[in-house]
Amino acid sequence: MNSEAPLLLRGGTVLTLDPRALVLPGADVLVVDGRIRHVGSFPDAPPGTRVLDVSGTLVLPGLIQGHLHLGQTFFRGLAEGRRLLAWLRERIWPLEAAHDDESAYWCALLGAAECLLGGTTTIQDIGIGPGAGGLLRAIADSGLRAFAGPCLMDSGVTLPDALKGETDRVLADAEALGPRFHGSGNGLLRFALNPRFILTCSDPLWEGIRDLSLRHGWPVHTHALEQRDETAAVRELKGGRDEVEYFADQGLLAADLRLAHGVWLTAGHLERARTARWSVVHCPSSNLKLGSGIADLLAIRGAGVPVGLGCDGAACSNHLDNLDEVRLAALLQKVKHGPDAFSGLDALRLATSDGARALGLQDEVGSIEPGKAADLLVLSLHRPELWAAPQVDPHDLVAFGASRASVRHVVVAGRVLVEDGRLTHLDLHEIVRQSSLHLAALIRRSGLSI
Ligand SMILES: [Zn+2]
Repeated sequence: MNSEAPLLLRGGTVLTLDPRALVLPGADVLVVDGRIRHVGSFPDAPPGTRVLDVSGTLVLPGLIQGHLHLGQTFFRGLAEGRRLLAWLRERIWPLEAAHDDESAYWCALLGAAECLLGGTTTIQDIGIGPGAGGLLRAIADSGLRAFAGPCLMDSGVTLPDALKGETDRVLADAEALGPRFHGSGNGLLRFALNPRFILTCSDPLWEGIRDLSLRHGWPVHTHALEQRDETAAVRELKGGRDEVEYFADQGLLAADLRLAHGVWLTAGHLERARTARWSVVHCPSSNLKLGSGIADLLAIRGAGVPVGLGCDGAACSNHLDNLDEVRLAALLQKVKHGPDAFSGLDALRLATSDGARALGLQDEVGSIEPGKAADLLVLSLHRPELWAAPQVDPHDLVAFGASRASVRHVVVAGRVLVEDGRLTHLDLHEIVRQSSLHLAALIRRSGLSI
């Protein structure tokens, strides 16, 4: 039950991102009990309604990030200049192995604060091993809508022992954590099963995860087809099969499977998508920075696979600014397919309506329509980067010009979590202070000489 007073956003230009992609100048959005009650003209607000004057702004659905590692926020800049497998082995795994509950809590809260300040309202986080409980607590405290769970691993020759759980224990712990955290954070946190990727999960672990997913209805969120060296290593380990072939044999394509990256998806893989239930989350900054490649979003979308968007993690993309990912995603498809192939609206949908479909939340978020959750992003048109002729399509204006500096208010489930560019419910100064203390101790624990 949402105890917030009704909220009226008065007089903004609303971009609905619904199937019609309406642009409604001077519109009001009335929010009651955390849901959008009315969009249009609403002169008489109910008694007790909080009214926010949003004239001179664009009002959009809150942004959705379908792939994140909030547990890596501390590691920004600590693993530069490496390809994926070296990046993991030399830096990320030893650092993640050194997390405890408290370091994970502040690390995730720091990342959540960055997400909120950039207009993100829903995340799907792939978790960590040690410290997973702290990370889940932080996500629940952040006010974000989220899919989250521990990162599941039980094998891998270069994986530190601290990350390598015993298979039955990993499954039992996940099954115990699920009911504990599912529904926490005022009902906004949903539990997910997060096997890291094929190279760190044994056959029995994948089988157990598939069974847990089918039994509890928890989605499966993992990495796949990010880099060609990764797929080559998968083929070597799995008798010549690549990621999608392996998932098909394991029955995972029948689960609710969400693949981060999918850079190297082929036409053959996409043909399988017609009878399966999976989605892809595109992470353009991460794919460029680790030298992974450019995913073919037109082909993936053309096969009917929902495509979302994410920043991946601060350790690879260095920022958690989803508006920047929107811009980059569009630019990359234009390089690949030509300048008319991917519009500003196409790009914005990755972080809104299509991003919601990728997470199975299309009935809940991703567009501004009565009945949906009141997850809203308000961008100031008084910022220089959003000044343009009135004839300009506002979807293009946002997709190619907006940045987190344009963010004025952010609302999740009817709560104003960012107001005039500032967090209302989190103490950023304290988060930064705690983060500095806990990161220094974590680096000492990791044994790395950095
Ligand atoms: Zn990732």
